[in-house]
Amino acid sequence: MLISQSTRFSELQSRLHGQVVTDIDEAWDASRQTFNVLVDQRPAAVVRVANADDVAETIRYAAQRGLRVAPQGTGHNAGPVDGLEDALLLRTDALQGVEIDVAARRARVGAGERWGAVADRASEVGLAPLSGSSRTVGVAGYSLGGGIGWLGRKHGLQANALTAVEIVTADGELRRIDHDNETDLFWAVRGGGGNYGVVTALEFELFPAPEIYAGALFFPFERAPEVMHAWHELVSAGLPDEITTVARVYQFPPLPFLPEFIRGKSFTVVQAAYLGNERDGAELIAPLTGLGPDMNTFGMVEPAALGHLAMDPEDPIPAASSARLVSNASHATIDAFLDSAGPGSPSQLASVEFRALGGALARRPEGAGARATLQGDYAMFAVGGVMSPEMKAEVQGQADGIAAALAPWDAGARYANFEERSSDARLFYDEDTFRLLRALRTEWDPSGLFLANHEIKE
Ligand SMILES: Cc1cc2nc3c(=O)[nH]c(=O)nc-3n(C[C@H](O)[C@H](O)[C@H](O)COP(=O)(O)OP(=O)(O)OC[C@H]3O[C@@H](n4cnc5c(N)ncnc54)[C@H](O)[C@@H]3O)c2cc1C
Repeated sequence: MLISQSTRFSELQSRLHGQVVTDIDEAWDASRQTFNVLVDQRPAAVVRVANADDVAETIRYAAQRGLRVAPQGTGHNAGPVDGLEDALLLRTDALQGVEIDVAARRARVGAGERWGAVADRASEVGLAPLSGSSRTVGVAGYSLGGGIGWLGRKHGLQANALTAVEIVTADGELRRIDHDNETDLFWAVRGGGGNYGVVTALEFELFPAPEIYAGALFFPFERAPEVMHAWHELVSAGLPDEITTVARVYQFPPLPFLPEFIRGKSFTVVQAAYLGNERDGAELIAPLTGLGPDMNTFGMVEPAALGHLAMDPEDPIPAASSARLVSNASHATIDAFLDSAGPGSPSQLASVEFRALGGALARRPEGAGARATLQGDYAMFAVGGVMSPEMKAEVQGQADGIAAALAPWDAGARYANFEERSSDARLFYDEDTFRLLRALRTEWDPSGLFLANHEIKE
């Protein structure tokens, strides 16, 4: 292991198995890398912890020196983290390990793991986690913020599938918290994000997935009005919880890393995953296949295949995005989507999607955490590539324009995981939930040691 050249942090380095990296070290740029490469993180130092003891040492050291600690895994939501100059960026990449108890349908996963590794292991034994659209998103940030994925309408949010969390709190103690131990703190972390400590491992439920019928229908971009309205009609007529669908427009830039069949091309696409057999699944989506797509990739798949369905980018990209939760959706909502994101609109964004919510996502499960439900009909996420600094304002403006067009249907609350800019955390919760989250923050982190992406503060 390379030892940091920095003398400022030599004492911290001597207490760790992992590595302290500062701006004079060769590993600096790689250590502060984020998924959105436009984000330029410049913390006081990066601490690449090797184990839970390193996490505790780093927290004690920071508390003594008046520094803050910003936990981070993959940096997929690094954009909103403000004030890093007085903080140690604690990178958890090395906290690896996926253990699966097949009989109990449980996983125990190191906080540095990404969803792809978990989904692959679970899939081998016919189980599925409540992971999202991307294999490279981290288990920790996704789970602590909520977590909506392809099985969400059937099984709810990943935050509520957590059965235990191992966390080092501001006093430097490693605790295993669950439904019977430190229940208030366990409630807070399941939706309250990285405000309460550094998570070192997570335990959660896996779900049987003996049969999954999933795929995508590709239509020409120009057919967006017909396809989006047909999709909305199908969804609003009431689909079973077993099926989760997404309707979107793609305008893929001509970038070399994209597969040839989509590179530089535009489409209207409906994607879906159905927990059931081919005959029933095909019947459910028949109103859409009946429209005659150019390409239909539906078929029976292993659970791990769901990580490829949305074709999310796996490598870091420069991007700008905007998001909204939409409720009381009608055909007018679809028209607003089309006018701002469809053919003839100002949008050239790579992807603008409506994910269908409802089902278990809208029902508070027993023993839920702070992010108990995600209300609304659709989650809109709009994202575009920013290929040069001059493009940033334009791309951001296009994404914000779509969110603004949907304002009449704004569900009220926002979804923290989809917010990639600094925002007031009050927007993510109802008043009572926020008040309790804030009180628990004061109890567990009285000096505001932890610097989360979405800070819960006064
Ligand atoms: C391509 C892409 C696809 C996505 N798809 C989905 C999706 O399908 N569904 C969905 O719900 N979301 C999705 N997201 C959003 C994603 O859930 C958030 O970006 C999430 O915060 C990422 O977590 P991370 O650990 O990878 O990121 P990081 O940036 O590493 O972490 C985000 C925050 O989580 C907290 N955190 C992370 N690790 C720890 C830890 N060990 N201890 C304490 N706090 C910690 C910190 O506050 C940190 O700032 C997607 C994002 C991208 C970029």
